[in-house]
Amino acid sequence: MMKKIIQQLKNSKRVLLASHVNPDGDAIGALLATGMALEKMGCQVTRYNESVIPAVYRFLPSVDSIQRRLTDIDAFDTAVILDCGDLHRVGTSADAIATIPAIINIDHHTTNTRFGQYHLVDVEACATSEIIYRLLQTMGLSIDPAIATAIYTGILTDTGSFRFSNTNRAAFSICEAMVAAGVEPSAVAQHVYGTYSLGRIKLLNLALDSIEISNNGHLSIMTVTREMLADTGTQPEDADGLINYARRIEDVKVAALIHELENADGAPGDQKRFHVSLRSDGSVDVARIASDFGGGGHAGAAGFSVETSLAELKRAIYNLSDRFCAPCHLN
Ligand code: 5GP
Ligand code: MN
Repeated sequence: MMKKIIQQLKNSKRVLLASHVNPDGDAIGALLATGMALEKMGCQVTRYNESVIPAVYRFLPSVDSIQRRLTDIDAFDTAVILDCGDLHRVGTSADAIATIPAIINIDHHTTNTRFGQYHLVDVEACATSEIIYRLLQTMGLSIDPAIATAIYTGILTDTGSFRFSNTNRAAFSICEAMVAAGVEPSAVAQHVYGTYSLGRIKLLNLALDSIEISNNGHLSIMTVTREMLADTGTQPEDADGLINYARRIEDVKVAALIHELENADGAPGDQKRFHVSLRSDGSVDVARIASDFGGGGHAGAAGFSVETSLAELKRAIYNLSDRFCAPCHLN
């Protein structure tokens, strides 16, 4: 499949690259690395992401070339969709992108739907950036410091700095190669983890204070409301990573971060839109839980979006906790 994909890219005149809404380091790193590499090959490339790029990733080379609007969709002969379990993860342009004649799906989520004509889906890969690294190797493209920084950042962040269960040998071997190619690990770490706005620290305080635990102690819920963002002058991206505090609590098997999104248009009463992030300690497959709610992800980290009331959503999440009773590991 990799050969066919390389052939398709070589034959393409205009390529659209897109990754998922509310992008993480891997969605952005893979997008930028692929963009820089295809341009080296002589392709005309458009990089697209619907969301604002979080401040911590704005140091990445070529990040300013990412567009939030799509025009002239008919001009593309190929789309490369990165780090998306399904095509709708790219956001509101999914239907328009679906009309592009050739769709290449490059991803590592267990819930990947195998959309598109070409798939490079490896659920064993630690990050989409790992798959991109292998693609560039197969293409024989040289990896300059800018591409290396994008790939390194994707792997560093998606493995939680080599701590999550997706951390594999490739994570280390590729990052070692990226350092040899010119990446400065301490500089990347300083950008990604080392600098918090005061508002973000205050949001952390509110988020920690919101933590609730189920009766059996195996489920934690953290809530980040629009009001908390307004009170601290922060952006939705400032909640990235906060769920790890809820996950770390002793005996907790599953942590949920309920993130209130902007108001749903015309939704009745207390109906609101929420994104829910799920993390597990490894004993529970949260991708399956997220799939039940229309989302997806990995066994240890998954998410979904819903329109409901906060009380109703908390009830639905608390109901899950009966499934993680002490000795009976969830199937
Ligand atoms: P997060 O908690 O950061 O939103 O997501 C955790 C993991 O689940 C990520 O790999 C992300 O791509 C995936 N994910 C989050 N929300 C959704 C969703 O609504 N649908 C699908 N298919 N995957 C999601
Ligand atoms: Mn991602």
